[in-house]
Amino acid sequence: MYEVTLKARAKINISLDVLRRREDGYHDVKMIMQTVELYDKVYMRKTRKQGIFINVNLRWLPTDDKNLCYKAAKLLMDSFQLEDGVYIDLYKKIPVAAGLAGGSSDAAAVLVGINKLFRLGLSKDQLAEFGKQIGADVPYCIMRGTALAEGIGEQLTPLKAFPDCYVVLAKPDIKVSTPWVYKNLQLQNVDKHPETDHLIEEIEKNNLKSIANQLCNVLEEVTIKEYPVINEIKRTLIEQGALGSLMSGSGPTVFGLFDDKNKAKEAVAYIKNNGIAKHVFFSSIYNPRG
Ligand code: ATP
Repeated sequence: MYEVTLKARAKINISLDVLRRREDGYHDVKMIMQTVELYDKVYMRKTRKQGIFINVNLRWLPTDDKNLCYKAAKLLMDSFQLEDGVYIDLYKKIPVAAGLAGGSSDAAAVLVGINKLFRLGLSKDQLAEFGKQIGADVPYCIMRGTALAEGIGEQLTPLKAFPDCYVVLAKPDIKVSTPWVYKNLQLQNVDKHPETDHLIEEIEKNNLKSIANQLCNVLEEVTIKEYPVINEIKRTLIEQGALGSLMSGSGPTVFGLFDDKNKAKEAVAYIKNNGIAKHVFFSSIYNPRG
């Protein structure tokens, strides 16, 4: 194989619970993850010249060893002493630093791409082991679909596929640093934790309305206090007909779940026209087949 084009899809958190702060500074989490259709396009081709060559449609994103695509390619190429080089063209649509795991998903796609291009024959589990070395969310981005993520996010249990629905994603024009959010989380003061096990039961029953009623992310307590616009977007999505709405990851992207396609499209138009969020996307749930 000489070239390959992959879709690196975004994820949302149906729930996000933080269980404890670990000695190493990381946090043990328990979260239900779901892939959505919004994707970055990752084109990869072998080159005779040795090295990793990256082109990105966003000029301010690094193309050197700071790019997660570079890290992923280097990890596999060094581990298997691959002699050719690789050219990666990354077309980003997923907003950066948004709580949508865009970078992790790009890295996951590059691992999958190198595996294909160089016929390494690695299984998904083996790729996930490599993925862990790049970031806690990378193994999930290789697996995709509906999953429970524990540990620091890398311990995965596949769940029954999430009910099909439309997803509106809206990212306000603010920057939220993930370390800042975790540092400011006061676990003892969190008054609402997600009912994760109950949510899993409702996913098994395909009960979208009930799931949408119980969306919960403990990190919202930190971000909403500082950035009320996150709450404003949540409110707007509900007013526009979302069955439920939540901030994804450490934010600032907010998503709304819709069972009505037209309402979801109208919500996108409303948020855009009123300048409530900078990036707004109409999307849907993605579950891999088989
Ligand atoms: P998460 O949901 O896992 O917290 P995120 O959506 O908040 O992820 P990303 O978009 O993955 O955040 O990017 C986080 C940081 O990683 C950014 O500061 C960005 O500069 C850097 N980065 C490196 N490579 C990439 C890439 N390929 N795409 C996006 N960001 C990248």
